[in-house]
This record gives sequence, structure tokens and C-alpha cells, in this order.
Amino acid sequence: MAEFKTDIEIANEVEMEPIVNVAKKCGLHEDEIENYGKYKAKISFDAIERLEKEKDGKLILVTAITPTPAGEGKSTVSIGLTQGLNKIGKNSIVALREPSLGPVFGVKGGAAGGGYSQVVPMEDINLHFTGDLHAMTAANNLLAALLDNHIQQGNVLRIDSRNVTWKRVLDMNDRSLRNIVIGLGGKAEGFVREDHFMITVASEIMAALCLSHDLEDLKVRLARMIVAYNLDGEPVTAGDLQAQGAMAMLLKDAIKPNLVQTLEHTPALIHGGPFANIAHGCNSLIATKLGLKMSDYLVTEAGFGADLGAEKFLDIKCRLGGLNPDAVVIVATIKALKMHGGVPKTELSTENVEALEKGFANLGRHIENLKKFGLPVVVAVNRFVQDTDAEINLLIEKCKEYGVEVSLCEVWAKGGEGAIDLANKVVNLIETEKSNYKPIYDVEDTIEEKLNIIVKEIYRGGKVTLTPAAKKQVKKLEELGLDKMPICMAKTQFSFSDDPKAVGAPEGFEITVQDVRVSAGAGFIVCQTSNIMIMPGLPKVPAANKMDVKADGSMVGLF
Ligand code: ADP
Repeated sequence: MAEFKTDIEIANEVEMEPIVNVAKKCGLHEDEIENYGKYKAKISFDAIERLEKEKDGKLILVTAITPTPAGEGKSTVSIGLTQGLNKIGKNSIVALREPSLGPVFGVKGGAAGGGYSQVVPMEDINLHFTGDLHAMTAANNLLAALLDNHIQQGNVLRIDSRNVTWKRVLDMNDRSLRNIVIGLGGKAEGFVREDHFMITVASEIMAALCLSHDLEDLKVRLARMIVAYNLDGEPVTAGDLQAQGAMAMLLKDAIKPNLVQTLEHTPALIHGGPFANIAHGCNSLIATKLGLKMSDYLVTEAGFGADLGAEKFLDIKCRLGGLNPDAVVIVATIKALKMHGGVPKTELSTENVEALEKGFANLGRHIENLKKFGLPVVVAVNRFVQDTDAEINLLIEKCKEYGVEVSLCEVWAKGGEGAIDLANKVVNLIETEKSNYKPIYDVEDTIEEKLNIIVKEIYRGGKVTLTPAAKKQVKKLEELGLDKMPICMAKTQFSFSDDPKAVGAPEGFEITVQDVRVSAGAGFIVCQTSNIMIMPGLPKVPAANKMDVKADGSMVGLF
């Protein structure tokens, strides 16, 4: 097989445009951006305010079929599509999530796209970028420090140290911090208690920042966050600890959207990055709304498959943010569909049209689901070099039989050129098919009713069972009046069910909800179905082992 250039090699060959030029393309004045070096900038609140009266562009969501662990190319296709839209003369911006250092050094790698559809400077975006994740880590851990200090200094709020729910965070995969003991060493060192670390992107701060309308709204959300329960079982909030002001201060720049560019110099907003399993998995609402004001076609992405990411985008983010999506692109790959047709992961590179035909059921269900939200749908087949003509033709035929638009996408190999057909189809779809977006459930329903709708309508399970502990938690949230919020499902991304091995389109299964808790600041109720990793570990051979920086500062191994 031919040798391919790595992502970083491709990125380094492109001469970036100064960010002030990119800002001009979005209609921003020079004094409305805050430069972070020559190629990155934050967009000021003044610009956001000035653009508020502008008309919104069209909102396009990029989602995917149930993925393999490597991902099916949502970011790559999102970037390729925005490049393609610009190529056909449309004014388009892409709004994506910020990568976390955990996956960068672990298995998955960076999250700045791939091949000829990347956002740059990819090294910066994948590493410290503009420091947003570090600011969130600091704000989160300030709250943890204030809480433990409160207990140490007399505990006026009567916090039950056995019932502290707030966790410390770090933007790193570090399994040895999952369960720890703090406060060892004697009277002056605090009270001894069990504690836990999460990865920063799993924190409620990240979710709340991404759902905030502005800094004031963020402060209100921070104050609402429940950090512990007192000895009477009543919630104690960050507001009770008078923490929100200092936390918001640490986040005052992190809340401003970041502007960078694609390899084809089109504007890209990269801002916020909540996990898609424990949180809602989309970039910030502020960036999405701003992007809609600055472009005619805003392309954005939601994490994992459409059962998780798109459902939360549509039921949480769009509902809370008053967004009206116009079209959905479902990214499908032949390799993942073959996996859904029963092919083992080691044999996905071998042609197998029968397995592909069988695995199509997974894509078919995602198409049906998105139509239930009232949205026009187009399938983007993300082409890999291993895909054969027979496989590609079959997939295109199957989509046509299904009555859905389909486009063969070569964005990884060709950049925007490889998405011209997709761009034309998306524009045409938006012009000819009206979106009738509506969330799938009513927030005023009970928690169990909302759960049943998601499981039956989207996952196609037969039944939801709550463990006795989860039932108690639901009752408690009802008593506290915290039950009329959207649901954020925490479920494996590898299956419609809660069993990661049940690939394809399983039906009639039972989903067990083990844990129900409120993210009062973010504004949703997390329903956990199985053991969801909130502090990942590193693999036997971490990606970090192959990385290096040379004397001139250039990097290798960052994919
Ligand atoms: P997702 O957003 O769905 O998680 P990404 O766009 O991040 O997926 O892509 C996952 C990985 O797969 C990246 O390393 C990317 O470079 C690679 N990739 C995506 N599309 C292709 C393709 N068509 N051919 C080869 N590699 C690809």
C-alpha cells in the first residue's frame, strides 16, 4: 500500500493565514479579537454583542453511525464539508469541540480532523491551545479546595464528608487517581475522606460553560452546582460556599470562543469539549450561536454515534439554546458497517459485501431516528483507502432504496474538493426540505417517562429498569423539584443498548439505569446505565511514547 503523509506532516506543509485575515472573513473587526500568537484568537464579548442583531445562518449537524473505537470521521467530515461549502461559494464556518490531553496521549489521538481536512495550528489545538481546559481545571479544583477548607474550618454548613459529590479534575488519563484518600497526616492537614479525580472534560464546569449564554449566566450556573449533601441529606451548592465569583473569574477568558482556520483558510470556531457519555458532547452554545451570526452555513458536530451525541444535541443543547437545526449529515464508514454486520475488528479491511448489507441496519436506524426529530438527513460515506468499489456501490444503492440522500465523501484524501458533492446536496436539501425540528420528549414529563421515550424511540429497547438505588435517587430529585430537566444519558457509545458487544441494530433489550444524579449547574439529569469511565486510563503502549519535540520546537508523533 502507498505511504501516506501523517496529519502533522500535511498540516506543516500548509502556510497558515494570519488570524486577523481569518477574522475579517467572518466580518470581525481587528479590535474585536484577542490574539493568542499569530494564528489563534479569542473573540470578544463586544463582537458577540454587536452581531446579535444579525440574521442566523443555517445550522447543519454532523453525527455518525454507532462507531468503532477509532471514530468514523465526524470531525474530519465536518471540516471537509465546511471547506467544500466555501469551495462552492457559500460562506461557511465550522464549530467544533476542543481536544482533551487524555485521548491525545492515550489511544484515540487528536481531535483536529485528519488528512486534508484539519483545523490548524493542529499541535496547539491538540495541546494547550488557549488554556481553556487549564482554566476549567483550576476553577473546578478551587471549588474542591474551598469545600475541604470549609470542613476543616468548623463546617458551618454541616457538610457530610461521606457524601461529597464534587470531584477534583485533571486533563490527563490517569487511572491511579480514580479513587484516592485525602487529608492524611494529622489535624492540620484536613479531614480524612475518600476522594476521586475525573478528567476535566467530564466535569460539570465544562458542561455548564458549554451551555451558558454569557458570563453572568455561567455564574448563576456555577452557584447552582451541588457539591455535597449535609447531615440532613440536603444539597450544599457552590453558591453556599460563595465560590461562584472566583470560579467565574478564572473562567472569564475560557468562555470566549476561539477562532482558528482550516487547512483551506476557512474560519473555524473551536470551543468547549464536554465528554459525550457523561455530559452532552457538543461544543459551546456561545460559539454555535456566534457562528450562526457570522456565516450562512454553520457546520457543527456532536460526539459519538447519533443515539448519544445527536440525541443530546437535539434534546439538550438545541432546546436550552433555542437553536433550530436545518439538516443532519450522518457519517457512515464501510468498515464500521461491516463490524455491525458481524465482521471481527481484525478483518475489517477485507471486502465483505454480505456483512455490509447486514450492518446497514445500524445506519438505517440512525436515519429513522433523526427523521423522528423532524430533520432532513443526508448520509456522508467517509471513504477509506481499503473500501472497494463493490462495497461503495452497494452502500450508495442501499441508501437510495431507503429514500435518503447519500454522498461519497473524500475529504480525508482531497480536502474540500472531496466534499463538493456533499456540500451541494446539503445546500439543496436545506432549500427543498423544511426542517420541523422538535425534541423527542417533553421536559415536564417525569424522569421515568423521559427515560422510556429515549430508550424505546431512539435505542429501540423494550424496557427500562431502575435499580432500587436509582429509584431512590429519582424520588429525591422529585422532592427537591430538580426533575423537570432534560436527561443526559450515560451509556456505552458502541451499541444502541447498554451492552457494548451488541453491535448492529439490536431490539427489545432491557436497559438498566444504575445511577441518577443532577447536574444542576449544567441543567440536566445524568442517567447512568453502566460503568462509565470518567477518568480514563492509558493503554499498554500510549500514543505519548511515540511523540517528541525537536530542538527547533517542531513536533513529531502527534499523528
Ligand atoms: P470522530 O470525530 O468521528 O471521532 P475523527 O474525524 O476524529 O473521528 O477521525 C478519527 C481518526 O480517523 C482521525 O485520526 C482521522 O485522521 C482518521 N480518519 C478520518 N477519516 C479518514 C479517512 N477517510 N481515511 C483515513 N483516516 C481517516
